[in-house]
Amino acid sequence: TGPIITVDGPSGAGKGTLCQMLAAKLNWALLDSGALYRVTALAAKQHGVALDNEAGLEAIAAHLDVQFKVSNEQSGVQVILEGENVTSNLRTEETGAIASQVAAVNAVRAALLERQRAFQQKPGLIADGRDMGTVVFPAAELKVYLTASAEERGQRRHKQLLESGNNASLAGIIEDIRARDDRDMNRAVAPLRPADEAIVIDSTNMSIEAVFDQVQQAAKR
Ligand code: C5P
Repeated sequence: TGPIITVDGPSGAGKGTLCQMLAAKLNWALLDSGALYRVTALAAKQHGVALDNEAGLEAIAAHLDVQFKVSNEQSGVQVILEGENVTSNLRTEETGAIASQVAAVNAVRAALLERQRAFQQKPGLIADGRDMGTVVFPAAELKVYLTASAEERGQRRHKQLLESGNNASLAGIIEDIRARDDRDMNRAVAPLRPADEAIVIDSTNMSIEAVFDQVQQAAKR
């Protein structure tokens, strides 16, 4: 299999955009591991599995019937869960919040491990998540940890929501981001932290292009 670049960090730091830019530039495959946790959350909801039913959640994660379909540039990746297109439900705040609770269950993480590793391929893989460099791909060639202040991430999210016609209070968004950070960083299993060898990029006062350039420079070394 080919080389791997991992990109970890808190939600809203710009990992998704950076990873899409890297994958397009290098013509490498992309693993959006957050989507797997989000799909697990949706499947659990669909099947009426409670968030405290660990064995039930594990079974859901182990038997996920999901396809990621790349159709065209405009519509991006379509996510099909048990034959149903769930793309529009995937990115909502509600799904993200459930996903971060599902992701705190060790058995769920274990069940998704091999599925994530199976994304390794030639000519290479960009892996986007929380534990790509620390747990899933510890031998990755390059590890990036992308972060930004909670206020800045909240402002970016707020702007995105406004642009898509949704109004939400900035203070509420920042509060949600802090709550998600707290869950992701302080959970017992695979807590969010930079891998030892990771290059840490704080994008609070950086454009996404500047971040992209910095990662490309690091990739050449
Ligand atoms: O990145 P995204 O917001 O889509 O991820 C949703 C949730 O899934 C995160 O808040 C996190 O709790 C969990 N997650 C994780 N490990 C990953 C990717 C996502 O725990 N590798």
